[in-house]
Amino acid sequence: MQSSSPEIRSLRGVGPAAEERLLRLGISRPLDLLFLLPQRYEDRTRLTPLGALRSGERAVVDGVIAVADVVFRGRRSLLVRITDRTGQLTLRFFHFSRAQQNSLVTGTRLLCFGEVRFGPLGPEMVHPEYRVLQPGQSAPLEDRLTPVYPAVEGLAQFRIRDLTDQVLSRYLNTLPDALPAAETADLKMPALRDALQFVHRPPPGADLQLLGAGMHPCQRRLALEEMLAHHLSLRQIRERARADRSIALPATPPAAVRLRERFTRSLGFTLTGGQRAALADIDTDLAQPHPMMRLLQGDVGCGKTVVAAAAALTAIAHGHQVAVMAPTELLAEQHRNTFRRWLEPLGITVVWLSGSLRKRARDQAYAATADGSAQLIVGTHALFQSGLSYRSLALVIVDEQHRFGVHQRLQLMDKGASDAARPHQLVMTATPIPRTLAMTIYADLDTSVIRELPPGRQPVTTIALPDKRRAEVVTRVRDACRGGAQAYWVCPLIEESEHLESQAAEPTAAALAEALPEIRIGLIHGRMNSAEKERVMKAFVAGELQLLVATTVIEVGVDVAGASLMIIENAERLGLSQLHQLRGRVGRGRDSSTCVLLYRSPLAEMARARLEVLRATNDGFEVAQRDLELRGPGEVLGTRQTGLMQLRVADLVRDADLAPAVQRIARELLATAAPAVEELRHRWIGAGDRYGAV
Ligand code: ADP
Ligand code: MG
Repeated sequence: MQSSSPEIRSLRGVGPAAEERLLRLGISRPLDLLFLLPQRYEDRTRLTPLGALRSGERAVVDGVIAVADVVFRGRRSLLVRITDRTGQLTLRFFHFSRAQQNSLVTGTRLLCFGEVRFGPLGPEMVHPEYRVLQPGQSAPLEDRLTPVYPAVEGLAQFRIRDLTDQVLSRYLNTLPDALPAAETADLKMPALRDALQFVHRPPPGADLQLLGAGMHPCQRRLALEEMLAHHLSLRQIRERARADRSIALPATPPAAVRLRERFTRSLGFTLTGGQRAALADIDTDLAQPHPMMRLLQGDVGCGKTVVAAAAALTAIAHGHQVAVMAPTELLAEQHRNTFRRWLEPLGITVVWLSGSLRKRARDQAYAATADGSAQLIVGTHALFQSGLSYRSLALVIVDEQHRFGVHQRLQLMDKGASDAARPHQLVMTATPIPRTLAMTIYADLDTSVIRELPPGRQPVTTIALPDKRRAEVVTRVRDACRGGAQAYWVCPLIEESEHLESQAAEPTAAALAEALPEIRIGLIHGRMNSAEKERVMKAFVAGELQLLVATTVIEVGVDVAGASLMIIENAERLGLSQLHQLRGRVGRGRDSSTCVLLYRSPLAEMARARLEVLRATNDGFEVAQRDLELRGPGEVLGTRQTGLMQLRVADLVRDADLAPAVQRIARELLATAAPAVEELRHRWIGAGDRYGAV
């Protein structure tokens, strides 16, 4: 356990309780507080006239009470209407004291701060902060933007502000700049102290929009440092792993060679050059007595799973176990089915482990994993539950790693670790991140890339159509299904909320069922339990269902060769990479495939450019590159936040252009400045071991 420096107690207002809370956030020294960064800013420096209030805005207003009333519509509440020369605003209180009610009477002048919503009565604020002003008194306003810090349990915003005030005035000058001055000058970035002063206390007139978008040079300076800290940390993990021991698993013993030969013969196709090259990289790594840490990168459908299976056979031939982990039940189940289909005929025992297993089945799986009768164990993060132990885990295969945190991956590594050996690890991702970015965020991994698709694949033809031509699209689906093809109809989430997931797809499924009575339609969404999902998926794979209406749960990995048509609704709302992932669900069989991107007009310029990229290319790497170029400042990233790293200021996509500088500076620091490396890690990742409890 980490302990505090004595100085943290010297801050006004920090007693044992606050010290404990700060420590839980990894804040052990006064200076660490400066790296707890505001999440957003409020502008309390100016008054907004009531007539100019906009929905969603947080504003300071000054008005006189025209009416105040307690009403009982549904719920007892106090409604106070204030007015100024430009308009009116309703304040709504659900909880209020008698004293409050008595003070809020007609003619009283109020200064209020709160978030504006538009209700039936026009603009409203629910439970605003307020104070009574005297007539003629000038409204007391802040002279700086007000930072809003991440919520810390037991520490109110004003206390965090007070603490950062103290640290800024007493300690900021003692903060060493860990970056070489020549570099920051080259990049035209402000000094660390100036950047921190600015982001904690932006001066009046600071560009709120630039700040909100995270694009202010001061934020970029901090983003650089944060990315650097993570990069350095990953490189250290890798250095340490090099020194760790693993079980060497050469592919050369006759038993291993024979097993792999039987496997490849059973496949019915030959491996592509890219697959063979990747497998050769893996074979070389596995033969070493140190853990392999390899990323297998390749576009959707390029055939990463076969490569992973071939690698697994080597470990199994040596008498050890392999764990295969996927981020969702659906994907894990698919892997289970694939590995069973491929490996069970070779006499290999594949065991399934998911969080939704009943106790009896789970106990059995646990026992088989512990006694070694389970040779390959497939599952979700259930694979690293604390009660589970492996007899001899030699290789960990992680699919679609961007859904897991580095932290989780390391946990699984620790699972297999004994004093004598750590498991090898193979990480598969279909996210074709550009090379510089990959080198930054996967700095602990070596990379193999599969660039080609298996032969005979037809490129997917992509077309974009406005929503008003929906009827034509429905006809097209009917024709395709009548012709024996299968289709997906994808309804993305419009709101970033899991429980709306079903709502996105259900009405569409109902409408399509009505329009296409002769077509067998299925529905799948993230709120169904895994048995339901599996039933639907199985029916679709078996061709019993012709049209599958789905949310983006089918985004990654799902493999149905008969599907050759995909419709994506609200395509303008999705990011490029996500669209590309979705599109990868078709074009997996021999038939030529089509992807229809339905959009709502009018199309914003950026959205038009995105859809155009997809029309123009099927190459995932090119899509990824264009994605980075097109994502301008301030654009909301439509994809779910990746679990890759927990970042405070940096955004891996927005700040991807900093990657080359990150690598350059990292090389320099690792060669010359060990204390600076430690300092950076401490500031941004915490003093815990490795990625420990961030
Ligand atoms: P991904 O890289 O997206 O995980 P998969 O491993 O799921 O791709 O492979 C996609 C499909 O292509 C699977 O049905 C797989 O059996 C098939 N496949 C893989 N490699 C080849 C190959 N060399 N030739 C023909 N088909 C292949
Ligand atoms: Mg896959």
